[in-house]
Amino acid sequence: MNALSPGSTIGILGGGQLGRMLSIAAAQLGFDVAIFTDEPDSPASRVSARAVVASYADEAALADFARRVAVVTTEFENVPAETAQALIGAGARVAPNPHALAVAQDRFDEKSYFASAGIATPPFRAIASQEDLDAAIAEIGAPAILKTRRLGYDGRGQIRINSAADAEGAFEKLGAPGILEGFCAFEREVSIIAARGWDGAVAFYDLNENEHAGGILSRTMLPARVSADIARTAQEAAQRVLEAFDYVGVLTIEFFVMPDGSLVANEMAPRVHNSGHWTIEGALTSQFEQHIRAIAGWPLGPTTRVAAIEMHNLIGADANAWPALAADPDARVHLYGKRDARAGRKMGHVTKLSF
Ligand code: AMP
Repeated sequence: MNALSPGSTIGILGGGQLGRMLSIAAAQLGFDVAIFTDEPDSPASRVSARAVVASYADEAALADFARRVAVVTTEFENVPAETAQALIGAGARVAPNPHALAVAQDRFDEKSYFASAGIATPPFRAIASQEDLDAAIAEIGAPAILKTRRLGYDGRGQIRINSAADAEGAFEKLGAPGILEGFCAFEREVSIIAARGWDGAVAFYDLNENEHAGGILSRTMLPARVSADIARTAQEAAQRVLEAFDYVGVLTIEFFVMPDGSLVANEMAPRVHNSGHWTIEGALTSQFEQHIRAIAGWPLGPTTRVAAIEMHNLIGADANAWPALAADPDARVHLYGKRDARAGRKMGHVTKLSF
C-alpha cells in the first residue's frame, strides 16, 4: 500500500494504556488518532484527536468510524471477530488482519497453530467436560494448569492442578471451555517483539526477560540471560508466525526457557506488549512508533537497543509512589491517566536505563 500521509487519521479499537501510547507515537509522526472504545473517558481517548464511545457490536457506529479513518488497528486482542468483520465490510483497511486476532483469542487454537508451525509448546488438550479433564490429566500428568480457552489474561481464568485429586470439580469451577497445559518448570520467561510491514519487511527487538507476580508482568530486563541460539530460535518462530498470517504491525510471542535450553511458546499477542514498554526510551524506534509505521505503510525503523534496561510495572497502589519516582533522575516515569488505582490494575511503568 502507499504510505499514509501525515495528517491522515489512524483508528484504534480500544481505549487502554496501549492505545494511549500508540496514539502519542502516532501524533509524533503527524497523524491524528481516532479511538473507538466502549469506555467513556478512557486513557487513550484523552490523548487522541477524536474518540467514539460505542459498543463493539454497534454496526452503524463501526461503519461510520470505518469511513473516517485511513486504517484501523487494535490495542487489545479480544476485539470480537464480528467487530473486525463489520469494519472490513464498511471498507476499512484493518491491520493486523482478523485471522491473527481470532487465533490469538483462543488458547487452544493458538497452541495448535504454534504446533502446526513447528514451534514447541507445553503438552495441551482441549477441555469441554470433566471427563475430558480427567482423561487429559491421565495423559499429560500433574502438575498442570487449566485455563479458559478465551478471554483470559494476566493469569485470570487459570486453575493450577497439582494432583489428580485437584482436578475434581475443576471444570465446573472454570465455568467455560478450557485447555489443560502441562506445567513448565521453566528457568526464565522471555518474550520477543517483532514487526512486519505491508511490504513484508520484518524487524525484531532484543529478547525481553520477564518476571511475573500473581500472573501479571512485574519486571522486564534486557539483555535477557539467554544464549544466542535461544534468541535466534525466538526470532525464527516470530518470523514464521508473521509470514504465515501475512501479518502487518507489531506482534509479541511469550516463551518459557527450559532448563535444557529449549524454548517453549506460551502465547502470542497480536499487538504491542507490556514487555516492550522499555523501547520508548531504550530503542531507536519504540514498539508503538514501529506499529504505527507498519500499519501506515511507512518503512520500519531501527530497533537498536541503546542501554541495559530494567522496566517495572506500577500496579494498583504502586503508582502512589510517583513523587519519589519523579524525583529519581534514573527513572523514566509513565502514568496511564487511569482514574482509580484498583488492585491488580496496570497504572503505569518505570524504565531505568544503564549506559
Ligand atoms: P498466561 O496468562 O497464559 O500468559 O499465564 C500467565 C503466567 O502464568 C505465565 O507468564 C507463567 O508465568 C505462568 N504460566 C502459564 N502457563 C504456564 C505453564 N504451562 N507452565 C508454567 N507456568 C505457566
